[in-house]
Amino acid sequence: MATANLMGFLDEEITRLKAEGRFVKLRILEGAQEPVSVIDGKKVVNLTSNNYLDLANHPALKAAAQAAIAKYGVGTAAVRPIIGTMDIHMALEKKLAEFKGTEAALVFQSGFTVNVACCQSLMTDASDLLISDELNHASIIDGARLSKAARKVYPHKDMKALQAILESPEARAARRKMIVTDGVFSMDGDLAPLPAIVELAEKYGAFVMVDDAHASGVMGRNGRGTPDHFGLTSRVQIQIGTLSKAIGSIGGYVAGSRSLIDYLVSTARPFTFSSSHPPSVTATCIAALDILLNEPERIEKLWANARHFKDGLRKLGFDTGVSETPITPVIVGDTAKAQQFSARLFHEGVFALSICYPIVARGKDRLRTIVSSGHTARDLDFALEKFAKVGKELGII
Ligand SMILES: *Cc1c(COP(=O)(O)O)cnc(C)c1O
Repeated sequence: MATANLMGFLDEEITRLKAEGRFVKLRILEGAQEPVSVIDGKKVVNLTSNNYLDLANHPALKAAAQAAIAKYGVGTAAVRPIIGTMDIHMALEKKLAEFKGTEAALVFQSGFTVNVACCQSLMTDASDLLISDELNHASIIDGARLSKAARKVYPHKDMKALQAILESPEARAARRKMIVTDGVFSMDGDLAPLPAIVELAEKYGAFVMVDDAHASGVMGRNGRGTPDHFGLTSRVQIQIGTLSKAIGSIGGYVAGSRSLIDYLVSTARPFTFSSSHPPSVTATCIAALDILLNEPERIEKLWANARHFKDGLRKLGFDTGVSETPITPVIVGDTAKAQQFSARLFHEGVFALSICYPIVARGKDRLRTIVSSGHTARDLDFALEKFAKVGKELGII
């Protein structure tokens, strides 16, 4: 008999979450997010953050934040359309548009909110059709749910299935069609087949939204993202990026045409009803973009580290799946073993989080690793040595 009172209900749910291995215990970082960090009192090689370019604790970004606090204060005390827009917010958006090669850009509180906002604002009627890759990020799934559009999901990167959806009577009758995809998929580190998606979109009169959260600062010239990587900037109408991963701070943005941005300013609900970034955040992002433009060697170092680490894992005999980016899964297959692998590695001084069913498909339980440009060869070789030791101990290799 299910319990109706709140305490009883929560106890039951928590018991169930624990039984299913879905109860979350927070790990505590003591100090800054660094390639080698102190987590829960232990110094470990950190292979779990999205701090791709080692900017989260960069002196130039911290100085920019401090200068912005001195000039603008610590908060805006308003939403953007009321009086929460400062000149520094406009300066960041101008810089982002130039960086992405678009007419305009608009910053939101996070990557999550910008995805929700775009799906909700652009897909407003049951006669609209939102078409999504099955492995798209949760924020796209939630945005699709909040939109009023009909929704179709295609199997991961399956272009035949996408074409079949676009040829269906429902799609032919739709008022507008939007294809949404992650640029880099966050669990496997593989790339969306953007050239094929763009071709299909053009053939069937759809527009394309690409979520480049894991590609911002990583893919394309100076980290401009996957449309730039594929030479498709002018043919992808809606480019989403995050400021919370490689850029080292917090926030999300959409880059596209002037009219897209004007429309979102007037309609996007998270923009209209939730306050804007503190100026220190905005200044931090501007400083980070300057580093992307002026120090491309950081991105080269990230890729060199990713290749070194991935090659090392493969040589040891680990299954690294279909990764094409610095996100490298180490697929173990079994939930208990993945959790044990992660715990043993932590004990040995390496932090690589286990990601298990239902976040990934059954049988694809894994550790997910992301290297940073800030890891030294010594850090990575130490990590590889520990992967070898624990992997053999657990019979994974
Ligand atoms: C992390 C992530 C987001 C959310 O970005 P935040 O800025 O952290 O809110 C959106 N999409 C994808 C694919 C992501 O990996």
